[in-house]
Parts: sequence; C-alpha cells; structure tokens
Amino acid sequence: MVINYASNHTIIRETYKGSVFMEQQHFAELCQKLNQQGDNISKSVLDEVNKYRAQYNKKKLPVIWIETNDSGDNNIAFLNTTYPYAGQVFTDMIDLLYSNSFMAAQGKNALNILEQAAEKYKGRFTLVVEGAVPVKDNGLYNIIIRTENRSITALEAVTWLGNLAEYVVAMGTCGSFGGPSSARPNITGSMGVNKILDREVINVSGCPVNPDWFVGTLAHLLMYGKPELDDLGRPTLFYGYTVHRHCQRRSYFDRGNFAEKLGDIECMFSLGCMGPRTGADCPYRQWINHVNWPVKANTPCIGCTNKDFPDGSSPFFLPLDKKGKK
Ligand code: SF4
Repeated sequence: MVINYASNHTIIRETYKGSVFMEQQHFAELCQKLNQQGDNISKSVLDEVNKYRAQYNKKKLPVIWIETNDSGDNNIAFLNTTYPYAGQVFTDMIDLLYSNSFMAAQGKNALNILEQAAEKYKGRFTLVVEGAVPVKDNGLYNIIIRTENRSITALEAVTWLGNLAEYVVAMGTCGSFGGPSSARPNITGSMGVNKILDREVINVSGCPVNPDWFVGTLAHLLMYGKPELDDLGRPTLFYGYTVHRHCQRRSYFDRGNFAEKLGDIECMFSLGCMGPRTGADCPYRQWINHVNWPVKANTPCIGCTNKDFPDGSSPFFLPLDKKGKK
C-alpha cells in the first residue's frame, strides 16, 4: 500500500511492519489514514503509545498545563477526546504535574505544587499554555494564581515556566497567535505565547483545538520529540493541507457552483468560507468523536486555525475579498 505523506508529499511505503517497532513514519501513517479504516487517531495512538512505553520503558510525558486568557473552550474540547478518553491520557500518556483548570488545589497550595514541579522537572517538562497572554499594564488582566501575599500573572508564569520547559505547546488559537483574546480592539494587549518567549513554541491552533491535534502532538513529543512544523510553528501532521483541498464540496467549487444561502448544497465560498486559506484536516478527521465538521453541518469554515483569526475572517459570512475590513 502506498500513501501520501502530508508534510512533504513524499511517497512512503508501508514497510514498518516486521521492521523496528513504531518508526516515526509508522506514527505519521497512523495519523493520516484514520478514516480509510473508519477508525480514529486517538484509539490507534493510545494502543501504540502503550506498546511503545512497555517495550522501551518510556516514562510518561511530564506536563505543566496553565490556562491563561481564553474562553475555556480548549480544555472542554480536550475532554471530548475519545480513545483515549481524557482519563486515559492522564493515566497512560502524561504526568499532569499542575493544571489550574483540572486540579483541586488553590492559592498557596497550588503555588507550592507548581514551584516544586517546575524545580523537580526543570528542563524535562512540557509546558502547555492554553490561552493568550495579556501584556498591557504588566499583565494585570490575567492572574492565574493568587495567594494572600502574591498575585502571579499569566505573563509572569509563562515567562518563568517557558524558560524552564523542554517543550512549549500553545494550545488553541489564543495561545498560538492571540486569537479572539487579541481581536480588535484588544484592550488587554493579549498576544500569542511565541511573542512572549524567545524560544520555539509548538502551535496547536484551533478555536477550539481538535482533541486529536492536541493528543497527537503530546504523543509525538512523548515518542519522538518535536514534530515537523509548518512556517506558523504547527505540526504538519494536522495542518499540512488546506481545508479546501479535501472538502466534500470541492467538486462544486471546481465547477463554479456556489451556494446562494445557508442550507444550499453547493460550495460556500460565496458565503465566506475560509477553507481555501486555512490549514487543517477537518474534512476527514472531523469533530465530536469524528462525526461532523462545519461544512458538513452547512456552515462555512471560519478559518479558526489561522494566525489572523478572528479579525481576518470577519464578517464570517462575507466573501474573502470583503473580510478583514475595519
Ligand atoms: S465549502 Fe469552503 S472548503 Fe469546501 S470547497 Fe467550498 S470554499 Fe472550499
């Protein structure tokens, strides 16, 4: 069997079976051929990660996960992960050392946990930042830990932890590029993590992120280290092709048949679809346990993985040449 490798169009052959266990190439194939089998990436990935960890005695990925300036949509999307379910991610894939969204500790107790984790796992943990970072007024508009004596802003936490981490993963479009948190008029001065840190940041964009993109990125870090990234710092495994390339309505576009209103079956380029300039694998990975995605649900792609989302996509239902105007 021959398949296309999404990142560079190189033709690779299914030679991994019978060779060294779980080559990186094998992992890439797993991520890309999910729908050909009616399967999904998360289930395949968990099985393979568990086998790999057992064979090579790999430890789980230590993760410090901080939620900053976002709507909470990304951790909710993550909780929709299936095979592995969220609990399995925590028990089998990652050591969640700290999370201001998922843990019970508060205030000084939470700060103690964070300080101890950052010290113990210095240079080895993965920092996940879910949300943008407000910088106006010294970051005052997003405080992630408050004790009796101290308030720690997202700006302070990201700067501190980002310089200690082995990898930094920006989860969602706010974390990656500022996203809705930095939309006009951006009164908090919010921006993406890579504008705060003078180091490489892996951007797993999306508003919200697809759970597969996030879980798949963590799995890649655990097994092989940093995945191949595109020029926006995103894993090419998931963002290497445009939505438009694999859209089910592409034949209408190619024949110039465009929808006049929502609900029409033709291509929705005329209704503001951003698919032609949005990198993401939504048409075949889909959402909600892999059953649907916006165009299939009769609404245009709004380009939520893009660097200029949402300002560059607005108004959502006007054609591309009319978007992004103030
Ligand atoms: S609906 Fe959007 S993504 Fe699909 S073919 Fe039309 S323009 Fe492309």
